[in-house]
Amino acid sequence: MSDYKAVDYDVVIVGAGFAGLYAIHKMREQAPSIRCFEAGDGVGGVWFWNRYPGIRCDIESMQYSYSFDKDLQNEWDWSEHYAPGGEICAYLNHVADRFNLRRDITFNTRVTAAHFDGEEGLWRVTTDQGETLTTRVFIMATGSLSASQTPDIPGLDDFSGGTYHTAEWPHDGVDFSGRRVAVIGTGSSGIQCIPEIAKEAGQLTVFQRTPNFSIPAQNRSMSDEYRQDWRENYDERRRYAKEECPSAVVREFGPPSAKAVDKAARDAEYHRRWRIGGAEFMSAYRDIPTDLESNATAADFVRERIAEVVNNPETAEMLSPRDYPIGTKRICIDNFYFETYNRSNVRLVDLKKTPIKRIEASGIRTGTELHVLDDIVLATGFDALTGPLTRVDIRGRGNLSLKDKWADGPKSYLGIMVAGFPNMFTVTGPGSPSVLANVVVAIEQHIELIADLLVHKAKTNVDLIEPEPQAESDWGNEVNAVVERTLFSHSPTTWYMGANIPGKPRVILPYAGGFHNYYRICNDIVADGYRGFRFSLATEDRLQDT
Ligand code: FAD
Ligand code: NAP
Repeated sequence: MSDYKAVDYDVVIVGAGFAGLYAIHKMREQAPSIRCFEAGDGVGGVWFWNRYPGIRCDIESMQYSYSFDKDLQNEWDWSEHYAPGGEICAYLNHVADRFNLRRDITFNTRVTAAHFDGEEGLWRVTTDQGETLTTRVFIMATGSLSASQTPDIPGLDDFSGGTYHTAEWPHDGVDFSGRRVAVIGTGSSGIQCIPEIAKEAGQLTVFQRTPNFSIPAQNRSMSDEYRQDWRENYDERRRYAKEECPSAVVREFGPPSAKAVDKAARDAEYHRRWRIGGAEFMSAYRDIPTDLESNATAADFVRERIAEVVNNPETAEMLSPRDYPIGTKRICIDNFYFETYNRSNVRLVDLKKTPIKRIEASGIRTGTELHVLDDIVLATGFDALTGPLTRVDIRGRGNLSLKDKWADGPKSYLGIMVAGFPNMFTVTGPGSPSVLANVVVAIEQHIELIADLLVHKAKTNVDLIEPEPQAESDWGNEVNAVVERTLFSHSPTTWYMGANIPGKPRVILPYAGGFHNYYRICNDIVADGYRGFRFSLATEDRLQDT
């Protein structure tokens, strides 16, 4: 190992959500000094920031939780099948206390820049509190969906009432009692908060640009028997989720094709799964994600349910997605979403027919009318996957900025590392299955892989790890190739494709080949001597650079 200057910390971690917390815990096995920076004043990440009414997970809590510690797994009792956001945040606070993680976290501090120093083989990290420190290993655990997106609607700042983004919700809550409220956006966040706001508001107007497919969660309290059954079978189910399930979620996978059965049998199966609730519905037939005709059978079924639930046929039609296959926008899991449109205080505005012209002091003006409002809720989403990384001034070798390197779309090896950015890791970064999987499973797998890479680096007495440029480029080709086997390209306007952010390159951001395949690929790479990763001495690099 080269004898370069001492650094302030062995490892710097950015973010204290599911990823950052586990990263601190895991890195303690090998790194004496760790510092984690978190922009918020508490742990939890998504579950700290997104406190809008109705927030809960869309993967059952017995699965959307850590598996790395058996005692933790067995001691935390989830109250419902899909726990509310506050309970998930409480769980993450429990994890932070249980493993004494807070001592390494600096809260209320945003990392603004991180520059690689090739001479010294270290990262120089700067925060918005004016601190600059050095580290050997730099882990961005900043999440896929932590950079909120406020659309550039003319006049938004002129509005005289309250404006709230779902991802920056006031921690004391918002009292909508009797007020005239607008929600802009009908993705997962909008679909979760609309039913709850409708119960409280005097009048709720939903401004919808694109309708979404949504499936009832059929959420309910968790019985002791259900919890116990999971605990008794956790080892096998967690293994099965990782090794055999495309979304890293244990599901009952149906037969290969929806086309092989007649409509009556198919609908009976769809009904059965509808009653179970959640994304189980999407696994009824294995070709729903890949075959347009099969996909249409599932989409038709959902549209029929919307027409059945929503009393006003015109509203039902407005709520029915018609121009993209089901599942190519994130499937929503709801609690009485479509039923909400039967309330007399709720109105739906179709922005495709009557777009927003501008926002004025008193409300939202569409082509045809002025909607007078007290509050506007922006459920308008995120600069997903790349945003949390490119909003920090990250510079690798030769002062190349990550933003410039990714100007035409992100390039990474396995979504975990970027060529030219040695010892920098991106947990669930672009190019990983991340948001197309149970993200907690994806996070654990990434952090364990990072830990393995660092152990290997230490054992082989080298300083730096980074991907070979060829491995990175091959992985990029693989990410682009697997998406062609799915229906995602039939839905080019999603955040999966970067299409929700003006000017963002239109490329598939996550790896769509299935978590189980990704997991196998990573294991093969490790077994093959960390194929595609380059391990080097900083001194070698210095010589190379001169
Ligand atoms: P995050 O939870 O996003 O945490 C990142 C942290 O990094 C944040 O606290 C942020 O403040 C901090 N940070 C970011 N940049 C900086 C910086 N420059 N300096 C300092 N701190 C910084 N996934 C599922 O699988 N199932 C679900 O049910 C599910 N529900 C979701 C619901 C919502 C509302 C959202 C937005 C996402 C949901 N997700 C879900 C995806 C979710 O992103 C992951 O499940 C998971 O919570 C991500 O954890 P993380 O630690 O990687 O990132
Ligand atoms: P999203 O899915 O990107 O939805 C944003 C919504 O805002 C869309 O309906 C979009 O319309 C609309 N919108 C954006 N800009 C607009 C504008 N200028 N004018 C009018 N409408 C506009 O964001 P999200 O709902 O926050 O969800 C993001 C992801 O977070 C989800 O896909 C999911 O992965 C995760 N999440 C999960 C849960 C959960 O159930 N556990 C809850 C929330 C979020 P278009 O579709 O037309 O662009």
